[in-house]
Amino acid sequence: MTTTSFYIDGAWQEAASAERQPVFNPSTEEAFTETVWATADEVDQAVMAARKAFPSWSTTTPAERVEAIDRLVAVFTARTDEMSAAISEEMGAPLALSRNAQSPVGLGHLKTFARELAEMEFVRELDGPEHLVALEPAGVAALITPWNWPMNQICLKVGAALAAGCTMVLKPSEIAPVSAALFAEFCDEAKIPAGVFNLVQGDGAGTGTALTSHPEVDLISFTGSTRAGMAISKAAADTVKRVSLELGGKSPNVVFADSGIEKTVPAGVGMCFNNTGQSCISPGKMLVEGSVYDQAVALAAEAAANTEVNLASEEGAHLGPLVSEAQFNKVQKLIETGIAEGARLVAGGLGRPEGLDKGWFVKPTVFADVTPDMTLWNEEIFGPVLTMSAFETDDEAAELANDTQYGLAAYIQGQDAERVQTLARRIRAGVVQINGARRAPNAPFGGYKQSGNGREGGQYGIEDFLEVKSLSGWPV
Ligand code: NAD
Repeated sequence: MTTTSFYIDGAWQEAASAERQPVFNPSTEEAFTETVWATADEVDQAVMAARKAFPSWSTTTPAERVEAIDRLVAVFTARTDEMSAAISEEMGAPLALSRNAQSPVGLGHLKTFARELAEMEFVRELDGPEHLVALEPAGVAALITPWNWPMNQICLKVGAALAAGCTMVLKPSEIAPVSAALFAEFCDEAKIPAGVFNLVQGDGAGTGTALTSHPEVDLISFTGSTRAGMAISKAAADTVKRVSLELGGKSPNVVFADSGIEKTVPAGVGMCFNNTGQSCISPGKMLVEGSVYDQAVALAAEAAANTEVNLASEEGAHLGPLVSEAQFNKVQKLIETGIAEGARLVAGGLGRPEGLDKGWFVKPTVFADVTPDMTLWNEEIFGPVLTMSAFETDDEAAELANDTQYGLAAYIQGQDAERVQTLARRIRAGVVQINGARRAPNAPFGGYKQSGNGREGGQYGIEDFLEVKSLSGWPV
């Protein structure tokens, strides 16, 4: 395995282009390896390998595909430490976070797919045995993933595509090519048949577009920014591909006065800052009931001030750096804008945390009194920056929570079951988590509005890779 070669038709193939792209360690700002971006010709080879493998893979039994995923789980389990180290180095998640979350969530999705696949009915009776619905693999899938939770997203897509009987070409983020190459090595070691899983490295505009406009690609599963999702939908339109999008978010966390704010507010700050705020479901917008707002602001400021930041290579539960110089500059600019527009800075602010002069580190930051006319209200920050605002009535809480073009996740903290349930149903978001509850392993994950249109994880995720065939007059 190298990051300057591609995994096509069951073999590693050295990249054609001599142009090397540096891959940076965000904690040191130094390039630690390099990658190469696949040309349209190499994308074509990968797609055609997937096309060639489709007839045999798409006609395997679910039991055979469960076995293949189980083999992949076994390899991943044995090599988790390598994966965690790769993720920490390329995208800056501290080692403990990579070990305890980044790698295990990916592995967990693969295990869940194997379990769900074993239970799935691919032929369902409609109106007597002559009328059936058959769920069939949708074809060759292009999988395009971001850098922030690289194994989470790669496993959500590859696991579902394998389970459905699709063949695939994965193009991971150009910022995180190492973990993806390692994953391809896992697929090789797990003896996923040649051509079923292919990997090309590359950027979005060049390699990505070659993939999303390729006539032999039947469907695209994309996770990333809303901006890229729009471009991909347009590129896919000429050949009428199915496009499944998991995009950005701006997730509210509604805190009721009776929630026990001494616990729920610091927990909300911690969730917002998790992965240095670089999660699409980060609860970055805390909405607090007016009667406890001032106290909540003080608690959040204290929690942020107590949040440690350090190198990804250090042990401990601190925050790491942001992923890149571009992200660092973007977050600095947003903090500057927040101050200029009159939001009240109560923790953190501009510049790097003390003692960290190198690396794309930012200060854990909290803004209070953020109003809907401010840039921070609408913009996905993708950094450890929490905004806080007060609400007075439940109607206002729902209105403020829904005042966004996104609809990915929402969080509610409160003890009054009826108020909580009513609000949970009023919020237009694909995921609502109440009082710190985790999502079930097979819970569908995806967004409303401009957060996308697909669902990933478990059976819903597998169904995104299936076509629905209606069969009438089936001889019985
Ligand atoms: P990005 O959109 O810049 O890149 C994501 C991937 O898309 C990369 O592989 C990139 O090379 C590729 N890409 C970019 N433009 C493309 C194009 N025109 N054609 C084809 N491919 C293209 O996003 P990012 O900076 O890597 O990730 C951060 C974004 O991802 C955030 O907005 C975040 O909210 C979102 N995200 C969403 C989810 C979700 O499930 N909803 C999960 C994680 C991240």
